[in-house]
Amino acid sequence: MSSIANLRSVEGAGATLDPRRLRRDFPVFEHNPGLVFLDTAASAQKPRAVIDGVAEFYRRDYANVHRGVYRLSARSTELYEEAREKVRRFINAADQREIVFTRGTTEAINLVANSWGPAFLGKDDEIIVTELEHHSNIVPWQMLRDRVGAKLVVAPIDATGGLDMAVFERLLSPRTKLVAVTHVANATGAMPPVASIVRLAHEKGAKVLVDGAQAAPRMPIDVQALGCDFYAFSGHKTYGPSGIGALYGRRELLEAMPPWQGGGDMILTVTFEKTVYNELPHKFEAGTPDISGAIGLGLAIDYLQGLGLDRIEEHEAALTGYGIDALAALPGVRVVGAGQRRLGVLSFEVEGIHPHDLATVLDQHKVAVRAGHHCAQPLMEKLGLAATTRASLGLYNDERDIDALAAAIRAAQEMFVR
Ligand code: PMP
Repeated sequence: MSSIANLRSVEGAGATLDPRRLRRDFPVFEHNPGLVFLDTAASAQKPRAVIDGVAEFYRRDYANVHRGVYRLSARSTELYEEAREKVRRFINAADQREIVFTRGTTEAINLVANSWGPAFLGKDDEIIVTELEHHSNIVPWQMLRDRVGAKLVVAPIDATGGLDMAVFERLLSPRTKLVAVTHVANATGAMPPVASIVRLAHEKGAKVLVDGAQAAPRMPIDVQALGCDFYAFSGHKTYGPSGIGALYGRRELLEAMPPWQGGGDMILTVTFEKTVYNELPHKFEAGTPDISGAIGLGLAIDYLQGLGLDRIEEHEAALTGYGIDALAALPGVRVVGAGQRRLGVLSFEVEGIHPHDLATVLDQHKVAVRAGHHCAQPLMEKLGLAATTRASLGLYNDERDIDALAAAIRAAQEMFVR
């Protein structure tokens, strides 16, 4: 019996997750006894269903896609396109043609910045980003700004660490053409009110791109309910393989956008005089794609949906609350604020210990956390911090992991702060 079927039959629908049992689905924990993995925001561990499923695909069904007339290639193509359908369902897009496979969130954002950007943005048009963004939702827009002469406008956080919505509203204007905002901030876990942001931006005629890298593994995503124009996420953070991810774009937008990379698969006909581009979504998938990555992502989605994204969200929200309380109870520890809502990520400072020293000591206690600027240097600067230590959660974590983190922090304090 598969582990998912097993979980369903034992726990029944609606029951809360049992992370200790789910851990058995992840071979990494077998191979690293005692590992307390609290770095899922950087990349999630992989369930056996993904690891074995990808290997099985290479063993049984592998050939290039969209090309061969032979059966093996047809089967490979079918599996690849089935994975696209799984992504469509995962984020509730209306149409498979709205799902473009990319290398990940970064490439998805760069696709929009390089294709939609120059086609629809000009001098003095404005792009709003927030102070909560990862570098990959800042730098592509700076590059676009410099290319077309647009302006980059920054929506600030407030004193609590959440997005300041009053200021955001004031920054919106008819000049705003795009708002690029994270669904869950990777450095602090802050959750800006994305649905309201979309509504306000649309009132001004602006498009909205949502960076879903941290949200997709943690909560049900419904791009139609959100109303966003673009949504980007990464396979490797969603318990799937690295090197794959997806861009959702509303169909009429993708139809109107020029391709950004040329090559095989994105064409219908080519002569030296003229090329006719392929239809969606292939127009944006030049060259041989990451076939096994897409199939692995589809298997990860099967796994997550088998557990229920609503149950995963509930689990992570409860554990986030437990983590805040546990860390706040430690003397000399300060959790970095994330406004009214946060999910799955806890950034903190320990008085008198540099985050890198702390992470090194925690590792000696088999607690894996991240230390640094978390690819969000502008946010760190705003917070007045050079670096933080970050613990981030996955579906395999429970209270015992947080307790182990707290115990390891106390041990570090014994060493450094005396
Ligand atoms: N946005 C956020 C919020 C992230 O956490 C990350 C990864 N740390 C990215 C974008 C970039 O994702 P990737 O490296 O998978 O392209």
